[in-house]
This record gives sequence, structure tokens and C-alpha cells, in this order.
Amino acid sequence: MEAYDPDNIFAKLLRGEIPCDKVMETEHSLAFRDIRPQAPTHVLVIPKGAYASLDVFCQTASEAEIVDFMRTVGEVCRQQGVEEGFRLIANARTHGVQEVPHLHVHILAGRRLGPMLS
Ligand code: C5P
Repeated sequence: MEAYDPDNIFAKLLRGEIPCDKVMETEHSLAFRDIRPQAPTHVLVIPKGAYASLDVFCQTASEAEIVDFMRTVGEVCRQQGVEEGFRLIANARTHGVQEVPHLHVHILAGRRLGPMLS
């Protein structure tokens, strides 16, 4: 498993070195709008801790961090009004085509989405 890169763009965003369009912030998590939205609602939820991907997070984060992260996903969904449905995506590493090596879950909603796999 590759080491966490503290210079990745979301680490910089968490340190306040670059701006984001914040949707919600909790003790352990941050939610903000994707700069290249793929749907009317496209929010990214990230943990504040240094976790590169979802599997690493689930294996090594504290229960408090994991609960906070999942509650944040749920609260963002409630706030954004996703009654007609939504999709969560967590890309990981090379085969998952992960662009930013800090765990992020995409929340996509607001239109009928296309086929998931390609
Ligand atoms: O899951 P993946 O790593 O491929 O996606 C990264 C996402 O982060 C992209 O959707 C991109 O638009 C978004 N991004 C962002 N703000 C940045 C850099 C990337 O919202 N400053």
C-alpha cells in the first residue's frame, strides 16, 4: 500500500491552503461541492484524517471517525434532498481511477444517472 501523500490537493484544502465550496463540516469530516460537477448535486465527503482510500479508512480509522464520516454522508443527503435517488462512488487507486489520493466519497444526485460501470 502506498504511503499517504500530505501534499495531495485535499490535504491542502483541509489545511486551508486552497478554498472549497463547503457544504458541511464536523469534528472528523468535511463535505464540499466538486469543482467539476457531474450532476446537479455533486458533493464530496472526506475524512479530516490522513487516509488515502476507503479500504484503508475502514481498516484503520477509529470508530468515532467512521461513524462521523457515515453520518456526514447521511446528513449531506438529507440537506441536499435526494428523495428521488442518489449514487455514492469511492474510487480507489489505479484501477479505480482515483485522481486525488485522499479518501473521498462522491454523492451524485439530481438527475437520472447513466450506467455505472465502464
Ligand atoms: O474520485 P476521483 O479521485 O477520480 O475524483 C476527484 C474529484 O475531485 C474530481 O471529481 C474533481 O473534480 C474533484 N476535485 C475538486 N476540487 C479540487 C480538485 C479535484 O472538487 N480542488
